[in-house]
Amino acid sequence: KTPVPSDIEVSQSIVRDVGLLPITEVGKQLGLNDDEIIPWGIAKAKIPLTARTNRLDVEDGNYVVVTGINPTPLGEGKSTTTIGLAQALSAVRGKKTVACIRQPSQGPTFGIKGGAAGGGYAQVVPMEEFNLHLTGDIHAVTAANNLLAAAIETRLFHEASQSDEALFKRLTSKPFSAVQKRRLRKLGIDETKPPEEFTPDEKRRFARLDMDPSTITWQRVLDTCDRHLRTVEVGLGAQETVKSGSERVQHSRRTGFDITVASEVMAVLALSTDLHDMREKLGAMVVAYNKQGEPVTADDLGCGGAMTVLMKDAIMPTLMQTVERSPVFVHAGPFANIAVGNSSIIADAIALKVVGPDGFCVTEAGFGADIGMEKFFNIKCRASGLKPKCAVIVATVRALKMHGGGPPVAAGQPLSIEYQQENVELVEKGTSNLIRHIENAKKYGVNVVVAVNQFKTDTLAEIEAIRTNALQAGAFAAVVSNHWAEGGKGAAALAEAVEQACADSQTENFRLLYESSKSIQEKIEIICKEMYRADGVDYSPTAQAQIEQYEKSGFGHLPICIAKTQYSFSCDASAKGAPTGFRVPVREVRSCVGAGFLYPICGDIMTIPGLSTRPGFMDVDISESGEVIGLF
Ligand code: ADP
Repeated sequence: KTPVPSDIEVSQSIVRDVGLLPITEVGKQLGLNDDEIIPWGIAKAKIPLTARTNRLDVEDGNYVVVTGINPTPLGEGKSTTTIGLAQALSAVRGKKTVACIRQPSQGPTFGIKGGAAGGGYAQVVPMEEFNLHLTGDIHAVTAANNLLAAAIETRLFHEASQSDEALFKRLTSKPFSAVQKRRLRKLGIDETKPPEEFTPDEKRRFARLDMDPSTITWQRVLDTCDRHLRTVEVGLGAQETVKSGSERVQHSRRTGFDITVASEVMAVLALSTDLHDMREKLGAMVVAYNKQGEPVTADDLGCGGAMTVLMKDAIMPTLMQTVERSPVFVHAGPFANIAVGNSSIIADAIALKVVGPDGFCVTEAGFGADIGMEKFFNIKCRASGLKPKCAVIVATVRALKMHGGGPPVAAGQPLSIEYQQENVELVEKGTSNLIRHIENAKKYGVNVVVAVNQFKTDTLAEIEAIRTNALQAGAFAAVVSNHWAEGGKGAAALAEAVEQACADSQTENFRLLYESSKSIQEKIEIICKEMYRADGVDYSPTAQAQIEQYEKSGFGHLPICIAKTQYSFSCDASAKGAPTGFRVPVREVRSCVGAGFLYPICGDIMTIPGLSTRPGFMDVDISESGEVIGLF
């Protein structure tokens, strides 16, 4: 239809007028067997990990990552292009294709960003199911995260109120469980020894974690933008008191909440390769340090097994369909700044096997390519061993005009005139941003295809300016794509270019940017200099002390996940284009030891957003006929 209706109207009209393919049919057309599709209602199904293990002898399909230039706050259409390209490869070019995207958080959906199912005639349907709850994976992450938070709080309380002997007696009131045996092995104590034979020192070491409360990094989470939970005090109830000398004192503690997608559990979901790997990763998560400065893990608290059980359905990707009935795997939604911002390894790995050597897995990396693509390669592909062939960089005339010096673009504000009329000069100047992303992507040995996501105000001359500059910068191809308005057929040229780029690419050429064995500081500097083109990195004393602590604790080998703005190559969101002559300030370095990365904080990073006076949820309602309205 022209004009293209709102995203939710497109989604609902497709469901109503065209109809969804039963999800089991979508799975069967992809080649999945009956026992590889677990229906979750009509429109969604879970895909068990056997879909990969049943096909270990099948060669992987072509692995394509969709990334973008540094965006405007409106988003330049990475999700939309991921879906549009997959529709084109599948429906127009007849290639078995799966699009892999993240599950959105309900926080931003009800805040300012709105939905994330793609847009126009390139989206996942039904978009209200995609955007809200889906198959409950985010809720499972919340449950697992908060179980561990409760375990920490309880253990602190019990250790403060009981003697070594009493703690040990209670902890051994039942035979040692598997997770308790893990702890015994870690402590070098014979796990077959009966508790009564433990020495007082062994009893104390087993029973007392001795966490230093000031080092606890584990927060509670929920999937809502609720800024008033950023700092809270827990343990204020009348029962939460402990004896201190002859008095009873309150056993309270300041802590806080993050949004669920910022949880390390979500990062674990994204980076696990199978259920056992997830079990190890969850157990290895470091929540605090003890008074001797040694790390305390989820398994030390006895929690890794139970958390894995809570996550056992969440580990399966959710199968949905696009408006053109092609298959989509939706899985995991880690934050793109403090975490990897990519959908799961498991979804991609299943997709690559299911589509086979002639097929395509089109996966999306969140944020601009300086962050999303870099993390896709250096963290996600490093962990999975999967080798991409092609990076699609999404660019828009709008964002390049902004990079060329156009006025700021803000969500909810009308676009100024520069963005509505032809201005080739601004576009030309702004291509500096795109060119740097192309050069960066080429360092990994993949072919680069630039997709100009077409808006109705774009002119031919503006699009040509982007194409010419992209090809000069070494892109394998640069094509305009109109999937938002036309669906898969609007992305036919893009699909053809991606096919050619993959055919021309050798997976052996794929390389990572750094060896994980380098020092933490060296790794940070390589990313900052090679990807952002910074002159150097400045560390705060806190960051330096943390780096030393990680090296000492044996975490120095982990890859780096830089948390910074997506709006610029630098840490200054207002520095557009291709800034030079700047340094990267590292305020602190946090760790996700279980998920497997260290994350330097470079700039102000919010781990639980707030809501504005006029949040998106005010638009959302149920219509007379019972349909969801106002999601966008
Ligand atoms: P990103 O993944 O880069 O954040 P999205 O794909 O989510 O961006 O798109 C953001 C919004 O922009 C969506 O609401 C989508 O409908 C809209 N959009 C994307 N491409 C176009 C286009 N070519 N024309 C008009 N609107 C578009």
